[in-house]
Amino acid sequence: TSFVDFRNVWLAYNDELLAKRQYAVEDISLQVGTGEFIAIVGPSGCGKSTFMKLATGLKRPSQGSILIDGREVTGPLKITGMAFQAPSLLPWRTTLDNVLLPLEIVEPYRSNFRARRSEYAEKAKKLLASVGLAGYEDKFPWQLSGGMQQRASICRALIHEPKMLLLDEPFGALDAFTREELWCILRDLQAAQKFNVILVTHDLREAVFLADTVYVMSRSPGRMLVRKTIELPRP
Ligand code: ADP
Ligand code: ADP
Repeated sequence: TSFVDFRNVWLAYNDELLAKRQYAVEDISLQVGTGEFIAIVGPSGCGKSTFMKLATGLKRPSQGSILIDGREVTGPLKITGMAFQAPSLLPWRTTLDNVLLPLEIVEPYRSNFRARRSEYAEKAKKLLASVGLAGYEDKFPWQLSGGMQQRASICRALIHEPKMLLLDEPFGALDAFTREELWCILRDLQAAQKFNVILVTHDLREAVFLADTVYVMSRSPGRMLVRKTIELPRP
C-alpha cells in the first residue's frame, strides 16, 4: 500500500494563472510506499517546492487528489516534519528548546507539554546525542556551526515522531565534508525509525546515495513531469 499517493495532480497558484492554464505542477501521479525514502531532483522552477507544499497540505490541488496514509489531504498535516536549506532555529532559544518546539505546538503534545516537559527533554537529549550534539543542549544557535544547526533542525523535525519527513535542500548550504557526515546521520536515523522521506535536492549524487528511489522532475515547455528513473538497493 502507498503512504503517499498523488493522483493526476495539477496546481495553478491562483485563479488568474488557472484561467491562463499556467500550472506550477501538471498532471503529477506518484506513489510512495510506507517507509520509502524518495528523492526528487530537477531544475529550478520545475515545481519541487510546489510538490512539497502539496504533500504537506499547505496547498490544495486545482485538480486531482492527494492521499497520505490512506486519507485525502484537506489541510496542513501534523504527521510531517520539515527541514529546509536554512536551519531557521529561533535565535533566542537554546538548542534543546528549539528541538522541543514542535511538542509545544503539535496536538496532542501541546495539551500536556508543561506536565511532561522533563520527559520530552530527555527524549530531545537522546535525539541530539544520536546526531553528535550531546553537550550542546544549552547553547544558542549562534554558538553552533552551520552543520550543527542543521543537525539540530533535523532533530526538531523528528521530535514528534512524524510519519513523514520533508526535506527541501537541507544540505545545500553545507561544506562537502559536513554534508556527507549528515547524509550518514540521516540514513542511520531513517533505517532505525523507518519514517517516509521526501528529499528535494539539486545534487544527484546526494539523491542516489540517500534515496531508495530517485525521481526526476523535468520541464518541457509548459509541462512538468515526474518520472521514476532509478531504483537502487540501499548500500
Ligand atoms: P527554490 O528554487 O529554492 O525552491 P524559489 O526561489 O523558486 O525557491 O521560490 C522561493 C519562494 O518564492 C517560494 O516559497 C515560492 O513559492 C515563491 N515563488 C516562486 N516563484 C514565485 C512567483 N512567480 N510568484 C510568487 N511567488 C513565487
Ligand atoms: P522549484 O522548487 O522546483 O524551484 P517551484 O515549485 O518553486 O519550483 O515553482 C514552480 C513554478 O511555480 C515556477 O514557475 C514558479 O515561478 C511558480 N510559483 C511558485 N510559487 C508561486 C507562487 N506563490 N505564486 C505564483 N507562482 C508560483
